[in-house]
Amino acid sequence: MKIEQIKSFDNHKMVLFFNDDKLSLRGFIAIHSIFNKLSLGATRFCEYKSEIDALNDVLKLSKNMTYKCAVSDIKYGGAKAVIIKKEKSYKSIDFLKKYAFFVNSLNGLFKTGADVGIFEEDIKILKKYSKHIIDDYSKNDPSYWTAVGIFYAIKSSLNFVFKNDLFIDKTFAIKGVGKVGFNLLKLILEHKGNVIVSDKNDNLIKKIKKTFPTVKIVDHKNIHKEKVDVYSPCALSNEFTEKNIKDLNCKIICGGANNQLENEVIGELIFKKGIIYVPDYLSNSGGLISVVSTYENKSKKFLLNKIKKIYNKVYNLLNLSIEEGIPTNIILKEKVLDFIENNNKYINI
Ligand code: NAD
Repeated sequence: MKIEQIKSFDNHKMVLFFNDDKLSLRGFIAIHSIFNKLSLGATRFCEYKSEIDALNDVLKLSKNMTYKCAVSDIKYGGAKAVIIKKEKSYKSIDFLKKYAFFVNSLNGLFKTGADVGIFEEDIKILKKYSKHIIDDYSKNDPSYWTAVGIFYAIKSSLNFVFKNDLFIDKTFAIKGVGKVGFNLLKLILEHKGNVIVSDKNDNLIKKIKKTFPTVKIVDHKNIHKEKVDVYSPCALSNEFTEKNIKDLNCKIICGGANNQLENEVIGELIFKKGIIYVPDYLSNSGGLISVVSTYENKSKKFLLNKIKKIYNKVYNLLNLSIEEGIPTNIILKEKVLDFIENNNKYINI
C-alpha cells in the first residue's frame, strides 16, 4: 500500500506515530506544512472507532490548521496531534509526561496546546515537561478567544441575512458545550439571544440547567433538526453528512468544531438548500490567533483587533459566494491554495 492511498494524506510533510503500551498512550502527530521553521496545532484526546479513523482525523485536522493559518494571515505551518482514548488510558502525570517527551522529540518543529479532551489542568502539567506547549492561561485562554471569533463570525452572518447584527430575538442552537461551546453560550446570552444546547456529557448539562435556567436543553442526536436562525456545532469532526443535512432547519451554520463537513460535496448541498455556511477554519480561527499572539508576546488590543477582522472576512466571503453562485467552502479553499502557491504572501478575503 502507498502512503498516498490513505484518504486524508494530502501531501503531509511528516507523521509521527507514538506508542507506550504500559501507559495505554498511543496516537499521531501530523505536520501538514512547515513555515518559518514551525508548525502549530493543538492536541486532541478522544475515542475513535479504529486507529485508521484516528489517523484520518489527525491528517484532516492538520491540513485544516494550514488553512486556518492562511485565512488568519499567520506565517506558520499547520499540524495537529491526536491521542487515542482507550478504556485504560488515564491522563496521569506519567501519561502526560510521556506525551510531552514525544512532542519534545520533534525539537520544537511542532508547538501544541489544548483541543477536545485536553483541559487547563493537563496543559499545566504538560508545560512542566515541554517548552513546546504554548497555551498560556495566565495570558490568554484560547477557547475563550475561539468563542469570541465565532461570535464575530455569527454577528457578521446575521448582518448578511437579516440586515442587522443583533442577537436579540434570534435563536441559536449550540451542539457541544465544552470549552468553546460554553464560552460561546455565555457571549450569546450576554447579547440576549435565545439558546438551545445539547451535550453528550450529562454533568455539563446539569451545570447549564443550574447556571442558565432559561436555556433549552435537547437531545444531542437531534439538535441539528431544531428550527433556529443559527446552528453552531461545537463538538467533533464530520458534523454534516449527506444524510443528516436533509434535516437541517436553520438559516446559518457557524460554529467552533473543526472539519464540520464530512467532505467537500456537503458544502455544495448545504449551499443548494439556501443555508449560509461559514467555513470552520475561518469561524474558529480566534483560538489560533490568540495562541500566536501569546507566543509572539502581542498585546490584548492587538489580539482583539485581529479577531474582529473575522467579521469583515465572513461578510466578504458570503457576498462573493452569493454573487458568484459558488459555495463558501469552495471559494475559500481556492483563496487558501492561491495564498500557499504564492509562498504565504498575501490573502485577499
Ligand atoms: P471540549 O472537549 O472542551 O468540548 C467538546 C464537547 O463536545 C464536550 O463537552 C463533549 O461532551 C461534547 N460532545 C462530543 N460529542 C458530542 C455529540 N455527539 N453531541 C453533543 N456533544 C458532544 O472541546 P473544545 O476545545 O470545546 O473543542 C470543541 C470543538 O472546537 C472541536 O471540534 C475543536 O477541534 C474545535 N476548536 C477548539 C478550539 C479551542 O480553542 N479549544 C479552537 C478551535 C477549534
